[in-house]
Amino acid sequence: MEYSKHNIFSKISNSESYYLVNVLSGNADILEPSEAKKYIDNKISNTQEYIDKGYLVDEKEEEKLYKKKYLDFIDERDNDEVQLFFTPWYTCNFNCSYCFQDEYTNANDNVEDAVIDAFFNYVDKQFAHRKKYITIFGGEPFLNTPAKKASIKKVIEGANARKLDIAVVTNGYHITDFIDILKTARVREIQVTVDGTQQVHDSRRMLKGGEGSFNRIAEGVSLLLENNIPVNMRMIVDKDNVNNLPYLARFAIEKGWTNSPLFKTALGRNYELHHCQTNNTRLFKRIEMYQEIYEIIKKYPEVLEFHKPAFSIAKFIFENGELPSPLFDSCSGTKTEWAFDYSGRIYSCTATVGNIGDELGTFYPEINLKEDLIEEWEERDVLAISECSSCSVRLACGGGCAAIAKSRTGKLHSPDCRPIAELLELGVSLYNE
Ligand code: SF4
Ligand code: SF4
Repeated sequence: MEYSKHNIFSKISNSESYYLVNVLSGNADILEPSEAKKYIDNKISNTQEYIDKGYLVDEKEEEKLYKKKYLDFIDERDNDEVQLFFTPWYTCNFNCSYCFQDEYTNANDNVEDAVIDAFFNYVDKQFAHRKKYITIFGGEPFLNTPAKKASIKKVIEGANARKLDIAVVTNGYHITDFIDILKTARVREIQVTVDGTQQVHDSRRMLKGGEGSFNRIAEGVSLLLENNIPVNMRMIVDKDNVNNLPYLARFAIEKGWTNSPLFKTALGRNYELHHCQTNNTRLFKRIEMYQEIYEIIKKYPEVLEFHKPAFSIAKFIFENGELPSPLFDSCSGTKTEWAFDYSGRIYSCTATVGNIGDELGTFYPEINLKEDLIEEWEERDVLAISECSSCSVRLACGGGCAAIAKSRTGKLHSPDCRPIAELLELGVSLYNE
């Protein structure tokens, strides 16, 4: 018997205790300092309990369990819902200080009706037997011109005809102008980006002319909730705006948004992807961002009313009283996510859509798939990435984002490491209180 290769063991932040988590066996424990010392010294007291919980294993038996759980994961994913992104244009009315799409050429074209029809024909054919929904993406999908409004209406009609839900990723500026169209749709959620309270948000997410956008977005968010349309508010965080999080949280609480079951939030890390940020010293490393957020929540616990960070699987464990299933792959691209744009090209996901060289085929004017590249995407998981295959946190990490890994190493089957143990140190500390 030996310690499982999947044990994740580390000291809890601001505590003398330790945590021991094993995603393969589905167990998690907090170890008092004396028990933790025995664990470190290989002198654990209750051997049977450690065996029962899969912390102490027979290597061959564990390998069998690993293979079984892998097959379960693949089965489950094959039955999962697919998110299909449709980008009708890359045009945008904003000039955000950190936009990675600002270098895209072809920015001013509009989508032709024939492309929307071809998109739905492709969806009908390729995803006939999958559960699915459509997310309208950009650029900015809500641009207030008659032609662009007509295109969005056509996409929504296509979804309605197939009884498909839609979601929209928008900067939120023209929500009020699109509310009547939205009322006709089966809306899963409208994702709106708000980077802070007015002054902070407006200094980052301004109109092309420089004018602020916060007040119109806030009005739009309230209007969506009044019309029972779910909102997912996303704050893109870097060193310039992280300290505004408590203020934005308070604003949302005072507006009554956080009381609505239709209101949820996400924090996104501002990161470097396809080209250099003009000022990348403001970017956080993943762990730095969560350390900062942890400190902020300690000081302003009301932030949790606005957003509860995941801290890897820590939030899940404390909310559900159990562990999530092993994550053999955290990248949904080409498995449960695809992206399509107005030029008729097909991509893996939102991180690659529109990026020259990343296309995986076309759905218009004709269907043409780059099968070899698609296969490479489909095969990427922690078994296929050599660095991941012996990593102890792999079933909580899942190998990270393929697009980030590729942009860093040039290789799709390479790791995008997540600081899982460090995130758990923070998350267990926060949610155990
Ligand atoms: S490549 Fe990255 S952004 Fe795209 S689906 Fe995978 S994890 Fe998500
Ligand atoms: S990406 Fe890095 S941290 Fe994640 S499983 Fe692979 S090697 Fe481990």
